[in-house]
Amino acid sequence: RVHLLEQTRRDFVANVSHELRTPLTVLNGYVETLRGEVDDEISPWRRSLDSMHMQTQRMQRIVQDLLLLSRLESVQNGQRHEPVPVPAILAALAEEARDLSGDKQHQIDLQADNRWLQGHADELTSVFSNLIFNAVQYTPEKGRIAIRWWVDAQGGHFQVSDTGIGIPERHIPRLTERFYRVDSGRSRSEGGTGLGLAIVKYVLQRHQATLSIKSTVGVGSEFTCHFPSVRVVEQLRQA
Ligand code: ADP
Repeated sequence: RVHLLEQTRRDFVANVSHELRTPLTVLNGYVETLRGEVDDEISPWRRSLDSMHMQTQRMQRIVQDLLLLSRLESVQNGQRHEPVPVPAILAALAEEARDLSGDKQHQIDLQADNRWLQGHADELTSVFSNLIFNAVQYTPEKGRIAIRWWVDAQGGHFQVSDTGIGIPERHIPRLTERFYRVDSGRSRSEGGTGLGLAIVKYVLQRHQATLSIKSTVGVGSEFTCHFPSVRVVEQLRQA
């Protein structure tokens, strides 16, 4: 019965998310058109439309993340695993993070081993991007963000550390729960869905990898993913 209930819950979430996709696309399309019509920055409509635009986009991100989560829950492990060019993916994400940082002028450094990882490219990219973009989101301006990928006797390790706001210790064990947020007001206003770390946890499980989190309030956070040695592609490849 528990198994069946779980299945019903999963199907329900997947169906609702799927059904919401089209109406949201239509709403978002009209809101964008209307925003284009109201050029006048001081028009009272302009603020309402900007806010509607932000919120419809947020709903779209939530629906996308929920669909990704239900796909992760339903698709068998190990499908289409292939060598993934981690160094190239990280270089591209570091560039994106610099764009995202914009006026916050973070110092974003990347140090990456040449080796690749056996896995699912899109899923691993979503792990890397969720952790990197969180660091950008939760680090005040001019903070430092370090992205590292290295291999040792224990396996492959991907780490993002930041000098951001940090996380009180009591929240750390619950961070990977769906919709769990330390400061929900802040996460929402920054456009967070509260689903990023849940996705990270699922993808890592599917790659027999683990996540460790260290954080000190006001000092910064460090998220590290540990992949087993068998997943590291030893011979060097060209991206
Ligand atoms: P969100 O979309 O809210 O960022 P996540 O699942 O990615 O959702 O993260 C869950 C919560 O963990 C966030 O709301 C935030 O409170 C906290 N968090 C995640 N990464 C960091 C970080 N690098 N620094 C501080 N807090 C973080």
